[in-house]
Amino acid sequence: MLRSALQKAAAAQARNASSGGVPPGLANMKPQYTGIFINNEFVSAKSGKTFETINPANGKVLANVAEGDKADVDIAVKAATKAFQIGSEWRRMDASQRGVLLNRLADLMERDRVILASLESLDNGKPYSVAYGADLALSIKTLRYYAGWADKNHGKTIPIEGDYFTYTRHEPVGVCGQIIPWNFPLLMQAWKLGPALAMGNTVVMKVAEQTPLSALHVAALTKEAGFPDGVVNIIPGYGHTAGQAISSHMDVDKVAFTGSTEVGRLVMKAAAESNVKKVTLELGGKSPNIIFADANLDEAVQQANHGLFFNQGQCCCAGSRTFVEGKVYDEFVARSKALAEKAVIGDPFDLKTTQGPQVDGKQVETILKYIAAGKKDGAQLVTGGVKHGDQGHFVKPTIFANVKDQMTIAQEEIFGPVMSIIRFDSMEELVEKANNTIYGLAAGVMTKDIDKALHIANTTRAGSVWVNCYDVFDAAAPFGGFKQSGIGRELGEYGLEAYTEVKTVTIKVPQKNS
Ligand code: NAD
Ligand code: MG
Repeated sequence: MLRSALQKAAAAQARNASSGGVPPGLANMKPQYTGIFINNEFVSAKSGKTFETINPANGKVLANVAEGDKADVDIAVKAATKAFQIGSEWRRMDASQRGVLLNRLADLMERDRVILASLESLDNGKPYSVAYGADLALSIKTLRYYAGWADKNHGKTIPIEGDYFTYTRHEPVGVCGQIIPWNFPLLMQAWKLGPALAMGNTVVMKVAEQTPLSALHVAALTKEAGFPDGVVNIIPGYGHTAGQAISSHMDVDKVAFTGSTEVGRLVMKAAAESNVKKVTLELGGKSPNIIFADANLDEAVQQANHGLFFNQGQCCCAGSRTFVEGKVYDEFVARSKALAEKAVIGDPFDLKTTQGPQVDGKQVETILKYIAAGKKDGAQLVTGGVKHGDQGHFVKPTIFANVKDQMTIAQEEIFGPVMSIIRFDSMEELVEKANNTIYGLAAGVMTKDIDKALHIANTTRAGSVWVNCYDVFDAAAPFGGFKQSGIGRELGEYGLEAYTEVKTVTIKVPQKNS
């Protein structure tokens, strides 16, 4: 097989890895793919426009990427519609063969793991070691998981009244529009491609304008894996143009969106006002993480730190309202401060780095505004609260103590490394307070008391509850939000539902002698 210079460089890096460790990344690599991917080809935007994608660690331009908008979405939707036509190669393909293609894609991502993790780190800023270890591992596993489902999501035979034979067919929905955010570009792509392709749909995906590069490399790999023309189409571009064109398109059968609640509302509205396409939404969160005094305090401090600061605090399920029982409150705050101050902030390609830059300067501005609001509302700034360094978009890990549940920093999604620690002294009102948010994505509880753990697990209004752990994800375990955190579930068997239409077929069965 012919290997590109980049693949050779990646292989050389892999040989440099200490045994079982993370191979060094390609900090100076040039992205290979910067076009719009339609019908298995990279093309320029119809408008000829491009936009810059930057490296948030140093503000430098990584590449000029084709800027897709409505005209390009129209072409992609035509390609996806053609690929979905009855009798097409994709529609005639054996379901198990779709699984084979998804597994092949996973194999190719394994092969290019150093390249993909490097692109992810360059474009998003996350530590390369985390991209390589966590993002790539979970993305690859998601594709393999859904590869296994390709030939296993089948219908039922159903006894009904009368002389009939009734069965259901599980059919693909059709052309699926998918709009993804920048915080986990590869993972969000895998969460959406996996179930959509396993179930036999075709895809028009818009990737986030801040982080288009890794998704475009994966686009090239879908072609290499053997997906037929038009099955996967990937469009870099902006939300109000390309994103809006997808959610309001008359020939898109379903839209899946991950991002802010604000934009989720726009997507739903556009879907309603166009062709009532099916809508699934994975939106924001403000998740309570409840620490009882009986918990192992060291573990609780670690878990709360990871639950908030992981991915530079840019997680929809971040445990951003840390409730701590009064008896251990001061000790918890002191240990959390010490741990936060141990973060290694800096070059994402240094394998020792634990915290990279925020995704861009706009996010930093928002985060600093929230920090100012926390101070103004009377919360106590324990550590951080300022930018870090003089280049790139770094923010010091920040902790506020004495936060009251009603304060802005305890109510609004910050999407940055800002922890708000709220004190509670009794079970009374705890759940009410924990649930006192418009969101319902996740909740955590740390306790050795099974009664308390189950009480919290049963009464928090959240799509995921983690007991004595946080942020535990698996391709097999569903994820999604209650309340304004979204509609529908991704991952697991539940994740198939969004990409499946159920058809009921009823056949008259004439009785003997009639
Ligand atoms: P965003 O909502 O602005 O952008 C998300 C995506 O939507 C991007 O691709 C963007 O280009 C696109 N978009 C923007 N305007 C659009 C429009 N009018 N029509 C169609 N598409 C449009 O959010 P963001 O700033 O990229 O990400 C941060 C937010 O996303 C946070 O609130 C976070 O909680 C949420 N998020 C949620 C999850 C989840 O799984 N629930 C995962 C990641 C991020
Ligand atoms: Mg970028």
